[in-house]
Amino acid sequence: MKIKPRHPEKVNKPINPIKKKPNWIRSKIVDSKIFFETKQIVNQNNLVTVCQEANCPNITECWSKKHATFMIMGDTCTRACAFCDVKTGKPDELDIFEPAKIAKAVKSLKLKHVVITSVDRDDLPDGGSEHFYKVVQSTRNKNPDTSIEVLTPDFLRKGDAYKKILEADLDVFNHNIETVPRLYTKVRPGARYFASLDLLKKAKEFNKKIFTKSGIMVGLGECKEEIIQVMDDLRSANVDFITIGQYLQPSSKHHPLSRYYNPNEFKELEQIAKLKGFLLVSSSPLTRSSYHADEDFKKLQDARNKQLKCQPLQ
Ligand code: SF4
Repeated sequence: MKIKPRHPEKVNKPINPIKKKPNWIRSKIVDSKIFFETKQIVNQNNLVTVCQEANCPNITECWSKKHATFMIMGDTCTRACAFCDVKTGKPDELDIFEPAKIAKAVKSLKLKHVVITSVDRDDLPDGGSEHFYKVVQSTRNKNPDTSIEVLTPDFLRKGDAYKKILEADLDVFNHNIETVPRLYTKVRPGARYFASLDLLKKAKEFNKKIFTKSGIMVGLGECKEEIIQVMDDLRSANVDFITIGQYLQPSSKHHPLSRYYNPNEFKELEQIAKLKGFLLVSSSPLTRSSYHADEDFKKLQDARNKQLKCQPLQ
């Protein structure tokens, strides 16, 4: 039997050799017993995780803390972003039992904070918004003390469909801007920079209590001034939390890595972002939008409480 390629749209793309990783990009080796327990719960419940599908370098560390990020609505994405390792193609029907399965897995893993993301479902009239809502509500009902973070697609050309997710009882709304506007046609050809910004802005307007979050990858060919512009744009959309991480090229057919940023450069970007007024900034080579999301949620709450207590100068 002929095996289908994970990325049929990339088969005829030029080969971009993969650059050797520097010594500061190393996955942490940690407690393997808990890692296998997490794996077992994921497999037993037939769940898809972005940790596996996107080949995340942090999987040993995160799963050793029982921190897995669930990817709903299947393992096949209708977009073909040039940076992403998630399979591309025609997705399957939605699984009506998925909301209950996710809720059960969150309970089994005893998660205090869960991140739920999805593939893009441009094939569905609402982009999957209603299904997302059901997953969040089911998770909330079975796990009332767990904070819930969603990392959503852009719902481009789906009208007001995004609002359904925001009607759910969630704590953090995350949508990644991914890269600078100049690189969108190459890196994220199916998306529109200003539509993503608008989604983040509208999410905050819709529910001022939630935290909004967005992330950018560096090493795709952007320059520092462009990253700073993205920070300003995100602040103007009232985004609370920015994550900045190193792009790692998944294969020779993916978008070429321009360079590895060193840890000092990530520190510098963190300082700049803090001065822009984000409530929280996570900037490091291995930062991913769901990396340390549980600890970061507490930091976000503390930062907001501090801000609310802050008295204006007389
Ligand atoms: S950083 Fe996120 S995607 Fe990567 S392993 Fe951790 S939870 Fe999974």
